[in-house]
Amino acid sequence: MVDYTDLGLVNTKDMFAKAIKGKYAIPGYNFNNMEQLQAIIRASVETESPVILQVSKGARNYANQTLLRYMAQGVVEYARELQKDGKVIPIALHLDHGMDFKICKSCIDMGFSSVMYDGSHHPFEKNIEISKQVVEYAHSQPHYVSVECELGVLAGVEDDVSAEKSHYTKPEEVIEFRNQTGCDSLAISIGTSHGANKFKPEQCTRNEEGILVPPPLRFDILEEIEKKLPGFPIVLHGSSSVPQEYVSIINSHGGALKDAVGIPESQLRKAIQYNVCKINIDSDGRLAMTAIVRKILAEKPSKFDPRKYLGPARDELCKMYAQKNHQVLGSAGHAWD
Ligand SMILES: [Zn+2]
Repeated sequence: MVDYTDLGLVNTKDMFAKAIKGKYAIPGYNFNNMEQLQAIIRASVETESPVILQVSKGARNYANQTLLRYMAQGVVEYARELQKDGKVIPIALHLDHGMDFKICKSCIDMGFSSVMYDGSHHPFEKNIEISKQVVEYAHSQPHYVSVECELGVLAGVEDDVSAEKSHYTKPEEVIEFRNQTGCDSLAISIGTSHGANKFKPEQCTRNEEGILVPPPLRFDILEEIEKKLPGFPIVLHGSSSVPQEYVSIINSHGGALKDAVGIPESQLRKAIQYNVCKINIDSDGRLAMTAIVRKILAEKPSKFDPRKYLGPARDELCKMYAQKNHQVLGSAGHAWD
């Protein structure tokens, strides 16, 4: 059993309370390897932002869960070193899309400070039952582990999470769900989607340059949820914006991303006004890294040292996360709130 406070991590309770008050969102950034983790932490320290490091089941399979856990521990010391004055920005280690009690428990026992139980694929009652079980276990730890649950289904594919169609969250269910489960935050479905192809072309319109313009998020649903759960932390998954400059770098250097489309940043800024206090961004990081790696390998065919392409990819990633913290989430400057 590992206590996350011994690793220098924090849970998300305080982060969310401050974010709701300050009308900004905490970034939920996924990592699978060292370069992604370095970029996330460098950007967070530079922008003085709290951050939630997310580990998915796919990441656990890819990188080994024990290694990921020690990487997260190492990153606290790395953040302290970058900070220079001995302080550490608030860092939470969070399980993304835990699909059963067992995986949530195993992460809590390993020192995660926050877990998501995703029972959105279950009927309402079953979702409540398992969510409650996870919450009871998490909250009974020596140090409170926070729990995110999900109501409503997101469309799209990302790692092991996939659904054909989205089912929007039903606002009439949220009070009962929160009260019965005791969860600390709720991921909802209002039109965001996992992956880099968030919408089919027929769901979108096209602008003058022929680029797809996605349908707007369902702010009417979000507003109703906020009325029913005033001040309660709401989470948006699948909130990459799929920057078209990355898509075009990828496609002009041998890639084949067709009709990739994301959530416009203006929509995310608007959502933050309705108690959305955590926004998950994963695909944009994948696109940034792939764009730079493809470009360098194409332009400098004699390079074969991975540092020569992963290093610049990491720099780009860092720049992108800093931009998100400053211009989209508004979390920059809030590490010491
Ligand atoms: Zn998700």
